[in-house]
Amino acid sequence: MRINLRDLTLEELEEFMTGLGEPAYRGRQVFRWLTRPEVEDFSVMTDLPKSLRARLSGIATVALPQLVERKLSTDGTAKLGLRLSDGEVVECVLIPERDHFTLCVSTQVGCAMGCRFCLTGRMGFRRNLSTGEIVSQVLLARRFMEESGIDDRPLRNLVFMGMGEPLANYRHLVKALKILTHPQGFHFARKRTTVSTVGLVPQMRALAEEFPVALAISLHAPDNDLRSRLIPATRRYPLEEILAACRDYPLRRGARITVEYVLLSGVNDHPWQARRLVEILRGIPVKVNLIPFNPHPELPFKRPSESRVRRFQEIILSEGVVATVRKSKGLDIGAACGQLRAELSLS
Ligand code: SAH
Ligand code: SF4
Repeated sequence: MRINLRDLTLEELEEFMTGLGEPAYRGRQVFRWLTRPEVEDFSVMTDLPKSLRARLSGIATVALPQLVERKLSTDGTAKLGLRLSDGEVVECVLIPERDHFTLCVSTQVGCAMGCRFCLTGRMGFRRNLSTGEIVSQVLLARRFMEESGIDDRPLRNLVFMGMGEPLANYRHLVKALKILTHPQGFHFARKRTTVSTVGLVPQMRALAEEFPVALAISLHAPDNDLRSRLIPATRRYPLEEILAACRDYPLRRGARITVEYVLLSGVNDHPWQARRLVEILRGIPVKVNLIPFNPHPELPFKRPSESRVRRFQEIILSEGVVATVRKSKGLDIGAACGQLRAELSLS
């Protein structure tokens, strides 16, 4: 098995090169090449000596997953399906905003958390993505933007809200974050790179220490009883511990933690639950993002009415907490929150 250099951070690439008896700056050169969407082999890396390129081809690869699915929504959202080297398929979603694009990145094929309202959860866990497979989503999205002539606006924001629980694939996630935010490479801003988690407390604390980026926490319920029914896998982390980890999470000046709350009709959308939610969030700098449930025949919930959603939002706002309602994009192509399942990998 040849090593895929996309799995390496800049420091690791430098070490890899010195290990071959080459100067460390060769690692930096390769690192920069790997940020270009068209690069798939060493032959194009013209600032490396020919002999080194030949040697690298023998022991390493820079292969990318294959783009096997492109679905375009009427609202401009695109769902991209990537076939990985072992045949698994993973999806990511490119979302147009006014002056930029946001990419919703996946970290696992499937998910082990088993949230009752999420299709990815229903498919179960298949495997973690490697660092390179996470980073490659950005490159294939950029390639898609070029091909479709929509590269007038930059791909500027990353949200780790695709398939899988990012913090359950912690090592590969952190390496991917280091690669994607490195000033000598992709150079995404850390404040524009958001990791969404269901609340794995030890990993939340580890991320805070090791490589803090913007954080979103999927809360979905104001009490432990309801929460553990909706998100069975997080029973071992009570809300109190999750909120304490949020309180301790390092934030830049003016920044807030995003609290995600899927609104399920008759389950977690009562006015008293909005008030309770505000109470438990007191003292933590948050903005609440309400996500009206995206229905699917296999999921046993209903989306609340618009007035019900607005009432929930208004209660939170009236307590002085920022609350927005997420407009789910890409519903018509199964690209909205909770709809990613990668049909291709099931066939
Ligand atoms: N595993 C991480 C990140 C991926 S899910 C997490 O759960 O935070 C991204 C967001 O989509 C989560 O907030 C999740 O609760 C939400 N989501 C899942 N299924 C949904 C559905 N059917 N309708 C609306 N939002 C959903
Ligand atoms: Fe996994 Fe997030 Fe879906 Fe829950 S909502 S099953 S954590 S992907």
